Amino acid sequence: MTNKASQGQCPVMTTTAGNPIADNQNSQTAGPRGPVLMQDYQLIEKLAHQNRERIPERTVHAKGWGAHGTFTVTHDITRYTRAKLFSEIGKQTDIISRFSTVAGEAGAADAERDVRGFSLKFYTEEGNWDMVGNNTPVFFIRDPYKFPDFIHTQKRHPKTNLRSATAMWDYWSQSPEALHQVTILMSDRGIPKAPMFMNGYGSHTYSMINAQGERFWVKFHFKTQQGHKHFTDAESTAEIGRSRETYQEALYGTIEKGEFPQWKLYIQVMPELDAEKTPFNPFDLTKVWPHGDFPLIEVGVLELNRNPENYFQEIENAAYSPSNIVPGIGFSPDKVLQARIFSYADAHRYRLGTHYESLPVNRPKCPVHTYHKDGTMNFNPPSPNPDAYYEPNSFNGPKQDEGYSEPPLKISGDADRYNHREGNDDYSQVRALYNLFDAGQKDRLYQAMGGSMAGVPEAIVQRALGHLAKIDPSYAEGVGKVAGVAVPRMAAE
Ligand code: NDP
Repeated sequence: MTNKASQGQCPVMTTTAGNPIADNQNSQTAGPRGPVLMQDYQLIEKLAHQNRERIPERTVHAKGWGAHGTFTVTHDITRYTRAKLFSEIGKQTDIISRFSTVAGEAGAADAERDVRGFSLKFYTEEGNWDMVGNNTPVFFIRDPYKFPDFIHTQKRHPKTNLRSATAMWDYWSQSPEALHQVTILMSDRGIPKAPMFMNGYGSHTYSMINAQGERFWVKFHFKTQQGHKHFTDAESTAEIGRSRETYQEALYGTIEKGEFPQWKLYIQVMPELDAEKTPFNPFDLTKVWPHGDFPLIEVGVLELNRNPENYFQEIENAAYSPSNIVPGIGFSPDKVLQARIFSYADAHRYRLGTHYESLPVNRPKCPVHTYHKDGTMNFNPPSPNPDAYYEPNSFNGPKQDEGYSEPPLKISGDADRYNHREGNDDYSQVRALYNLFDAGQKDRLYQAMGGSMAGVPEAIVQRALGHLAKIDPSYAEGVGKVAGVAVPRMAAE
């Protein structure tokens, strides 16, 4: 039997209830050959905990990497927002970040071609602001009704349990609004070398409200200061052969070395009523706001400078939701944003439990005063004012403050199910991107996209090529050549 003295400075091991453990090597049995006694609670507790070590992985964005950091304001944007985190130059706010791939499971290889999640939680004095974005300024869908369908095409086939190129291209070729995102995904930026070498975008249109109560529509851009670095498909195959955990190695390693990655935050701003003047819907998640019309306005610097002490507690448990906004930052009519406001918080209630916002990594650094009561794992401290457990009350419980209200939205319409595929130009902005690529970039785009069509029925590939031809005939020709499928005549003309 060991005792504290024989263990030197080590504390005595205990059960979860704090009872000292005498033997952590040998189970308690009726004889040297067994059987095990049921009273060996320490063994039972150990096995029971192991069975519960995994929580449901995220349906999307399951594989992730992250770190703590700071955001520092470098430029004054108080004419657009009263958000306190932007109130003065030099102001710093602590953040926690999480980057991720979308489709792969928690054990997926890091360097796969996929969109990357780019999520930040700002611990402000007026509650948490979560910027739950991606490394691309657009997304595959503009109506949230299509999100589960789209994600099903990225996940495993119900019978083969394999990813299906046919499902992906069948869906994309019938959803031209996806082409902008698909082109970015298949371009050089489709496989960043590590999280430090990619941009982050809020992607959705959000709003800012200033001290005068004026609303502006806003896009958020985080530009990498490490430069863009990417793998080709061949390079990523070699990289995955070397290690499946290359992002974790790179991000963790660079911060441990004291080389802290940085991004500059910029915003694009549109006065509220100008939203009715743009030739495209500024709330459409498949569209960008051209820089020429909406120049980037510098705001500050994001720096990642501290690795988590415990990956599970600080990164896996981190729960980001676009519903977390602070006074001075608001939503927009963007339909996909509206759906995410519900679905992200709901996913965390399922994944982490009712009180997920009370976990240390999610808990705001400012006081929290709600009237929510009880529920599984409610470990919030008891109220110092126990009589005020409903509202309104006469016992000085927390009250609303109308000073935080937003101005009424000036945009409205008739409730209906509007056809999101009608009257939209799904090609011009993709063409603008395609025209930015030099010959080498175009060739790599053809290789990646044509390669991704291997095994896809010809009729589906032809349907996809028909859309690419509307972007640029050379795009369809280049991809068709790699896929070994002729561009349909109607589309090529
Ligand atoms: P600009 O020439 O002003 O901007 C082009 C943008 O494209 C830059 O932000 C650049 O990022 C980015 N870019 C370059 N290569 C890629 C790639 N392979 N994948 C994704 N983005 C890339 O043009 P516009 O603002 O008029 O936009 C033209 C097209 O550029 C858009 O249709 C859109 O596809 C793309 N784009 C536009 C953005 C926007 O917010 N306006 C943002 C990102 C892309 P960087 O400066 O970091 O090199």
